[in-house]
Parts: sequence; structure tokens; C-alpha cells
Amino acid sequence: SRQLLLKERPNGLPDEQTFEIREEEVKSPEKGEVLLKTLYVSVDPYMRGRMSDQKSYVEPFQVGEPLEGGIVAQVIKSNADYPQKGDIVRGNLPFQEYNTAKADSVSKVNTHELNPSAALSVLGMPGLTAYFGMMHIGEPKEGETVVVSAAAGAVGQIAGQLAKQAGARVVGIVGSEEKAIYITERLGFDATVEYKKENLKVQLQDACPDGIDVYYENVGGEIGDAIWPLLNTFSRVPVCGAISSYNLKKGEADIGPRVQQFLIKSRVKMQGFLVGDFAKHYKEAYKVLAEGVSEGNLVYEETVHKGFDAIPKAFNGLFTGDNIGKQLVKVAAP
Ligand code: NDP
Repeated sequence: SRQLLLKERPNGLPDEQTFEIREEEVKSPEKGEVLLKTLYVSVDPYMRGRMSDQKSYVEPFQVGEPLEGGIVAQVIKSNADYPQKGDIVRGNLPFQEYNTAKADSVSKVNTHELNPSAALSVLGMPGLTAYFGMMHIGEPKEGETVVVSAAAGAVGQIAGQLAKQAGARVVGIVGSEEKAIYITERLGFDATVEYKKENLKVQLQDACPDGIDVYYENVGGEIGDAIWPLLNTFSRVPVCGAISSYNLKKGEADIGPRVQQFLIKSRVKMQGFLVGDFAKHYKEAYKVLAEGVSEGNLVYEETVHKGFDAIPKAFNGLFTGDNIGKQLVKVAAP
């Protein structure tokens, strides 16, 4: 079975030196364990933080050890009552083609009629993140203007649609025309801003003539800076991510206009959050997301790369914006 190791900690965007694929023997499952065949691997922006040696809310990956993250797998052999051979499960597992894992470290996937990859996208961590950031912190109201950055991505595509369902006018910030078309025509966003084109500030002003009531922050940097002056009185800013800063090189700093004056003037509530903070409410979110999808009110896209070798490329693609919707790697068929 192949595994993907962290060979060297990256300085900036990961490159050929960062990862290595190695063959590894898989041990057969003991009592209480299962043998799993990886079907889908999720690549997520937060993994970049774990490639550095700085302590954060998750432990750094170790050099010479496999990366790990969200995986959907099939049980090949079970030495436990649950799950059983043939079941499709989800877990946070080492990036390997096969894993031997504790049976209680994975859970059976229930994606209804959807492809099981949905357990890593709309019905998984990104869907939950969008739900809690938007509905519990952003709290969009009828008629308000909501702006979402990285709007065509895994989290952004869901966050924007939830705001739309709450009756808001929704503006998405994206990196390409193809993404602008996706979020307006497929997802029903009201307007778009293409930040790689000229005049981000003017584009934003034009797209938000009544100012901004909720800014769902995924990106940070210059995009955030263009938002602060447009925030309305008592607006809310759920801070979900700051992807523009994840690949800063040693010595580079993430500096920009200071935000306090804008927050005071407009009495803005700005709150960072982690999806895990809301673990008590996951059931509520799954219900809304699953119903939304099955009733056709929640649309989602996945960009699926093929083959275990494709994981590094798929991961880097998150930072160059090659994905529409959730970025995934399909490793094997069930
Ligand atoms: P996405 O699917 O949105 O992929 C990342 C996207 O970000 C890219 O497609 C790209 O789109 C955009 N992007 C990348 N670099 C830049 C840049 N320098 N400036 C502007 N846009 C950029 O990823 P996710 O949906 O998984 O994650 C979105 C954000 O949410 C991330 O910041 C992530 O860290 C955060 N997150 C936070 C969680 C939490 O618990 N707080 C949980 C999950 C995610 P484009 O073409 O538009 O540039």
C-alpha cells in the first residue's frame, strides 16, 4: 500500500521537496480493528498549517510520517461488530491506500442517494463549517447584503446558498469568470466580484450599493481590507479562514490596514471560529444540509482528481484556485 509522507517542511507553497510517496506494509486488523480501502481523500487548506512546525489548534505533521486528513473508505475486513465488511466509512486517517484502524475511530457514512464523497463535502466538514459560520455567527436577515469570499469553494458555495435561503442578497468574491458564472447561474448568487481583475474596491462598491451586513471571511489579505470600509452598522464578520496568508514564506508578514477603527465606527461583531466548536449542534446542521440537497435547494460541486499520486497536485490547487466546489482525490472505486 502506498502512503504520502511529509518529506520536508515547505517554505511558501509546497513543491517537489515537500512530499514523498512510499510503499508500506499494512498490518492485518486485530480485535476491535478494521482494514480499510481508501476511496476518497480530502485535501483541505488547514493542512498547510500542519505542515509547519508551529503549534496551532491541531498538532503539526511530523517529517517522515504520513499526512492525514478526511478519508472515505470501504471496510475490507472487520474484526469488530461495527462497522462491517463492505460498509463505507469516514474518518481522519493517514493518507494511505489502505489503513488498519480502530473500529471506533471511523463512522458509517450516510449520504442517502448521493455519492459517498459527499461525506467530505456538502455533508461533511466543509458543509458544517459553512452552516455554523453563516447561520450561528453571520445570522443573515431578509434583505441584508452578504459577501462571501472564496465563494465557489467547498465552504463558500454552501455558505452563500444558506444566506440566500435566509432572504439575503448575496455577493461572491471569486478568482475567475468560470467561477462567477457557476455561483450566479447554478447557485443563485446575486452578484460577483472577480478579485484578479482590476479595481477590487470599485467592483465591491458597485456590487454592494447598500454596504455589507455580513462578510463571510475565507481569504483575508487585500480582499478583507477592501471589505472593512463597506461594513454597515451592526454587521457581522464570521472569520472562517485566511487562505491568502497560508503560504507566506519565512520573514513575510501579513500586514494591512488596521481594522479597529472600522469595527468601532460600525459596531461590527467579528468572530473567528472552528467548526469543532459547534460539535453539539452537528445534528441540526446535517438535517438542514441533507434536506437542502435532497429537495434540490442546495447545489454543490466537487472537483475530483484521479489517483493516489494526484494528492500533492490537488492540495496545491487549493492555493491556485483550480477547484470549483470541494477539492477531492478519488483513489479507488468501492
Ligand atoms: P476552497 O474549496 O474554498 O478552496 C480554496 C479556494 O480559495 C481556492 O479555490 C481559491 O479560489 C481561493 N484562494 C486561494 N488562494 C487565494 C488567495 N490568495 N486570495 C483569494 N482567494 C484565494 O477551500 P475550503 O472551502 O475548504 O476552505 C475555505 C476557507 O475556509 C479556507 O480559508 C479554510 O482554511 C477555511 N476553513 C475553516 C474551517 C474552520 O473550522 N474555521 C473549516 C474548513 C475550512 P479562487 O479561484 O476564487 O481564488
